[in-house]
Amino acid sequence: MKAAVLHEIGKPLVIEEVPTPQPGPGQVLIRVEACGVCHSDLHLAGGDWDLLRGATKIPLILGHEAAGHVAAVGEGVTTPKVGDRVGVPWIHYTCGECEFCKEGKEELCLKQKVTGCMVDGGFAEYMLAPATHAAPLPASLDLAEIAPQLCAGLTVYKAIKAAGVTAGQRMAVFGAGGLGHLAIQIAKAMGVQVGAIDIADDKLEFAKSLGAEWTMNAAEPVHKKLRTMGGVHVAMVCAASAPAYETALRCLRRGGTMAVVGMANEPFKVSAVSLISTEAHIVASAVGTRADLQELFALMEKHPIKCKIERRPLDDVNQIFDEMTRGAILGRIVLTM
Ligand SMILES: [Zn+2]
Ligand SMILES: [Zn+2]
Repeated sequence: MKAAVLHEIGKPLVIEEVPTPQPGPGQVLIRVEACGVCHSDLHLAGGDWDLLRGATKIPLILGHEAAGHVAAVGEGVTTPKVGDRVGVPWIHYTCGECEFCKEGKEELCLKQKVTGCMVDGGFAEYMLAPATHAAPLPASLDLAEIAPQLCAGLTVYKAIKAAGVTAGQRMAVFGAGGLGHLAIQIAKAMGVQVGAIDIADDKLEFAKSLGAEWTMNAAEPVHKKLRTMGGVHVAMVCAASAPAYETALRCLRRGGTMAVVGMANEPFKVSAVSLISTEAHIVASAVGTRADLQELFALMEKHPIKCKIERRPLDDVNQIFDEMTRGAILGRIVLTM
């Protein structure tokens, strides 16, 4: 099969022919039809995260937003069946037995395996997944449009849940890119009054077209403006920027919550005094669980939540990484096989 392979961290991927994997007991072989390209792929390929660098398998097929059909099943697999539509998210495997799995927090599983990092992912024509973790996909949605929801959509859906925002409350999304533009739509579908903040006016226009009730350029005195509106119940930071976090904290209503989503490389400052005096909360959210993913799909079937995607061939992957590094992408790129 054709695959994009990382042979050395920090080097471009190599498009090459590799043996098609065979499903072992409990596994399914998936014919990948679409796989989203996530910023995490770029960071893994560049070895940017110390936490995962040591765990990254080499050679590696990246990609953790894969959608396709089951092509074959291994011994003992009854569901899914050959021909079923399935997706493979970031969480490839969880043990089901550790204290976190038992608490329903499988994203914190101690024996978790990560797709396209510790095991091969979806930048290929075929891939393997445990039958238990291959997510059933709704028949009504296009596979290329579903693909980015498996990571980007799921991550922000889970963060919105973790932040506890409810219908009628005010929420500000910092960063209207790949994650932020989905957060706006998901929050809106949940009846939240959502607005967007970004440094780029084209992204703010985009946010407006998706239903953001207000938009502000980060160059404006954002916290002053939001405080005249009473502050926000939730500020979700999707931008990978420490200043965005510091501004977001100042925009909260008393008792409000800042949701940590964007992976800023540098630390941000928090004042204990202002946290205490306003009883502010800070919640962080990793990816969602299998159950969260099915909740998101149910929401998508009722509401027009769409990821802005551009379909590109697998051969373009290194060029796509360059474009992502330059910030030249609005929405999400999906590789189609
Ligand atoms: Zn991702
Ligand atoms: Zn576990």
